[in-house]
Amino acid sequence: MNDLPISVVVVEDNPEIRRFVSDAVRKSGCMASETATARAGLEAVAAGDVHLVILDLGLPDMNGIDFIRELRLWASLPILILSARTAEHDKIEALDAGADDYLTKPFGVGELLARVRVLLRRHSPTGEAVTTYRFGDLEVDIARHTVRRAGEDIHLTQIEHRLLAVMLANAGKVLTHRHLMGEVWGPGHAEQEHYVRIYIRRLRQKLERNPTQPRHLLTETGIGYRFQPGVR
Ligand code: CA
Repeated sequence: MNDLPISVVVVEDNPEIRRFVSDAVRKSGCMASETATARAGLEAVAAGDVHLVILDLGLPDMNGIDFIRELRLWASLPILILSARTAEHDKIEALDAGADDYLTKPFGVGELLARVRVLLRRHSPTGEAVTTYRFGDLEVDIARHTVRRAGEDIHLTQIEHRLLAVMLANAGKVLTHRHLMGEVWGPGHAEQEHYVRIYIRRLRQKLERNPTQPRHLLTETGIGYRFQPGVR
């Protein structure tokens, strides 16, 4: 992260939740501005120097999905969804529209800030492409196609490697089954979601300390998967 203060816009029409979220963001050392409508939120981002949007899906003047679609036409900053809706299709729609992650209300401050940190880290401008990753006791070099644990090589098949590369490049972001199918197997396979499940299971067996309780390759039930770099 650079020296400029990180600026977050909280778009939420419920004043209590809005204050709760922006207070948490401020206490974590970021700047936070608040808007109660989608329109004001879009204007705040357009005004510049915003690094992350925290967005409620149910807004009075615009559907949250439409907000994401409109924002994605001209901005790539991370969007974290706050959703009161438990319906999976709403979350999938938001993620497919270009949101990065979501939290279902009610949520705790700790989880909120952890998600914010991961999204900001992934989007921080480093100036060069990242091809090596460390998490847990693993070392992955995407360009060289190598995975090592404590210096020992772990063999991955091509598909496993590609799936891992997509997840690492999108750390912290929830990736839908459909998105992963398209990225790893190519367009035309989007309906064959069981492939993703099979290969995630294989990756967990090779990479996770405890494959039945994964710490990095996490399931988002009914939606897809998320790579969690781990606690720092
Ligand atoms: Ca609302």
